[in-house]
Amino acid sequence: MSNNKKTTLIIGAGGVGRVVVHKCVQNADVFGHIVLASRTLSRCETIKNELPDADIEIASVDADNTQEIIELINKVNAAIVINVALPYQDLTIMDACIATKTDYLDTANYEHPDVAKFEYKLQWERDAAFKEANSMALLGSGFDPGATNMFCAYAQKHYFDEIHTIDILDCNAGDHGYAFATNFNPEINLREVSSNGRYWEEGKWIETKPMEIKMVWDYPEVGPKDSYLLYHEEMESLVKHIKGLKRIRFFMTFGESYLTHMKCLENVGMLGIEPVEHQGQKIVPMEFLKTLLPDPASLGPRTKGKTNIGIVAEGIKDGKKRKIYIYQVSDHEKCFAEVNSQAVSYTTGVPAMIGAKLMLEGIWKRSGVLNMEELDPDPFMEEMNKQGLPWQVKELEL
Ligand code: NDP
Repeated sequence: MSNNKKTTLIIGAGGVGRVVVHKCVQNADVFGHIVLASRTLSRCETIKNELPDADIEIASVDADNTQEIIELINKVNAAIVINVALPYQDLTIMDACIATKTDYLDTANYEHPDVAKFEYKLQWERDAAFKEANSMALLGSGFDPGATNMFCAYAQKHYFDEIHTIDILDCNAGDHGYAFATNFNPEINLREVSSNGRYWEEGKWIETKPMEIKMVWDYPEVGPKDSYLLYHEEMESLVKHIKGLKRIRFFMTFGESYLTHMKCLENVGMLGIEPVEHQGQKIVPMEFLKTLLPDPASLGPRTKGKTNIGIVAEGIKDGKKRKIYIYQVSDHEKCFAEVNSQAVSYTTGVPAMIGAKLMLEGIWKRSGVLNMEELDPDPFMEEMNKQGLPWQVKELEL
């Protein structure tokens, strides 16, 4: 592998990119010289200015263009590329890493800009090419996917002989004080909420209507919250890698007020993406709505409350049934105080840094394209405790 080089190339200067840069700087002995590259140079500059004493260089790059990325990797002599741009850029960045024999890491699986469908197929297909280049591609090293995959692998390694069911439980109980705002891009947000749900049982995917399955879960340090079944990408790899699995589901919390606003906007046509005629001008309702809503990036300094993301696994150990809950709680205000980003970006950026650290240190040294749960969870879980994401394990009653 190419780890004798000592430059870390981070692509994407958004909310997650900011956290990755801050955390890599906190671990400068491992990450060495940092190059932060993104489409808009001024956003890289803002992040660099937050860390005036750090060894950071900035560059602009169009990550849709493989050749540009190849040139940048060669110019800065990158040992690893941490991709925290958008899921649309996964394949171009992976191809540049193959061409330059460089290790790769991302936090979200590939999505085509025009098709609301995400799957690992095209990334897994690059396994042979990464092996040929003797380089490693680590997929989905964020929180979910990422830490949640590690929780499953950790449960499998230490608590079970066989896991039969897994529920992934994602709660963001942050309050930004607005009646309605989205934590990230409203269009992507809507796509997630209005898509059909899907879970896996006895070898088959079962589709549900949007928000059809709801349960109330009592999240430690947060309290009981309505949680809705959604499809989420880590399930696609976990069904391949967790022994004896019979069912896996994913739940996310949404508040009553959020869903009511969303439904109302949908009913009156404000979520439309086709242009409409308004007083002689063409306007796209969704774009106009975006103009009215608070900029997601502005929510960071005013968000209070906690996130709690974890897994509940049920299965068999030494012939006896057991049920385990592994979860992590983060506080929006504490995250903002440390790295100028709220907990959603923080809980994604820290696992990205940890995955890259383990790769650079040679602790997770493999070639090919890998999902998180294919690697030993112990060093990752230990790093989570040290790097700002302490977790808990609870034995639950059956
Ligand atoms: P943002 O939209 O805040 O940032 C994305 C950054 O990527 C922006 O700086 C943007 O540039 C840059 N970018 C977009 N297109 C290109 C391009 N063609 N070339 C170069 N740079 C580009 O997103 P987030 O930081 O919130 O998310 C980053 C990634 O993290 C996403 O892939 C997201 O899906 C993933 N994620 C994963 C989670 C997990 O738990 N696994 C949770 C949350 C997010 P510009 O500034 O010019 O727009």
